[in-house]
Amino acid sequence: MRTAPRALATVALTVAAGLVVSAVPAHAAPRFTPGAPGAGDPYFPDMGNGGYDVAHYDVSLRYTPANKGIKATTRVQAKATQHLSRFNLDFLGPLKVHSVTVNGKAAAFRRTGAQELVITPKQGLRKGKRFTVAVSYSGVPQRIDDETLGTSGWVATDDGAVALNQPFGTATWMPVNDTPRDKASYSFALTVPKDLQALSNGDFAGRKTSGGLTTWRWEMPRPMASELAMVAIGRYNLTWGRTPKGVPNITAIDSKLDTAVDQGKNFHKLTADITDWGSKLFGKYPFGSTGGIVDAIGVGYALETQGRPVYDRINRPGVNPSASLVAHEIGHQWFGNSVTPEQWKDIWLNEGFATYTEWLQSEQSGGDTAQQIFDEVYATPAGDALWQVKVADPGRDDIYAHAVYDRGAMTLHAVRQTVGDKKFFQLLSTWYARNRDGNVTTADFVAHAKKYGDAKRLDALFNKWIHTTGKPAL
Ligand SMILES: [Zn+2]
Repeated sequence: MRTAPRALATVALTVAAGLVVSAVPAHAAPRFTPGAPGAGDPYFPDMGNGGYDVAHYDVSLRYTPANKGIKATTRVQAKATQHLSRFNLDFLGPLKVHSVTVNGKAAAFRRTGAQELVITPKQGLRKGKRFTVAVSYSGVPQRIDDETLGTSGWVATDDGAVALNQPFGTATWMPVNDTPRDKASYSFALTVPKDLQALSNGDFAGRKTSGGLTTWRWEMPRPMASELAMVAIGRYNLTWGRTPKGVPNITAIDSKLDTAVDQGKNFHKLTADITDWGSKLFGKYPFGSTGGIVDAIGVGYALETQGRPVYDRINRPGVNPSASLVAHEIGHQWFGNSVTPEQWKDIWLNEGFATYTEWLQSEQSGGDTAQQIFDEVYATPAGDALWQVKVADPGRDDIYAHAVYDRGAMTLHAVRQTVGDKKFFQLLSTWYARNRDGNVTTADFVAHAKKYGDAKRLDALFNKWIHTTGKPAL
């Protein structure tokens, strides 16, 4: 491109005004290309996207009970990891996108495939440059009912909604780079009629009522995988406090389920005690606050949503989650949430560890020992499905297989037997300390464990417990 003197003067002025305008000759101009439409997970190829790295999501969402709809704006702060001509966010279902801006300027957008929101900014985004995307949208979000993985996403309840998003589902209510390998911090401003409560991940950052509506603010300043984002709207009885060690603790029980004497107080205390117990065992609690939400949802599971798990207790009024279940979900705060598998095939690094946390909670509170539980599970006949799954690569439809949980926990117990108690508990706490807020693979864990014991024996152990099928000989 030839540049006339007058144009040069314009460039100089624009640069002085703080805008980024390139004056480099044409032969040095970067080639802008589209970001990938997936993040490369073999189980979920459409999930996540390439070409950028998200630093922060700011979600501002208003819920209207009359039509169970939402009106929202999500702002995404990201950094380009290639010269981007366009890029995708994941966005799924019937919500209507009204506008998209990139760095404050209107950007072209279209929706393709099952979950792609394709955004083309006015100008290419240079590699290494930070940019902000704002997406405004509205409608009635729809949950996902997957044939093998069950329900996730925005789930309407009789008095509001709960968003539970593992493995996918976040894209049903906010545009997102929906891959666990792109962790980011989150801010939520949730506006609901003042007779409802709205909870989310992390730290309470205030609430304000005006014109019959209350806006609840929540902050998750530490990196969070998108699948761990959570919103819970409904009529809750809230209990506010701190654990004995001083971690802020906010728990909530759906008012219809909160029917037993001291139920809220008991659930609050159980959450507090298990949070502090985990800190003693694994290292300082990973987040700025803890808690839990008990609601009537109908999904049939509890989920370790970051900093504040959700327990579905539909049709169980007056009955709190068990210590074992709370130990599982709070255990995930270290294993799965703070230390997050990069790929879904490694989900045993979440579930095996959370299940083993249950075993340890039992052992250390006077129940069955981990050895007793191991023996009981090991007695499962050789023909059972427990022995037919490759724990460290179970397949897309088997990420929640019983084997991933129980055989995953058995693997950890086998490591404990091999290296001894002292080294085993060191190994667990250093695994957390070294990978806090990060992403990991099974190979990382195997390499880590081998620092604490005989490498050959441990290789053989992992090979028979997680890399192959069949009932391992003891
Ligand atoms: Zn779990």
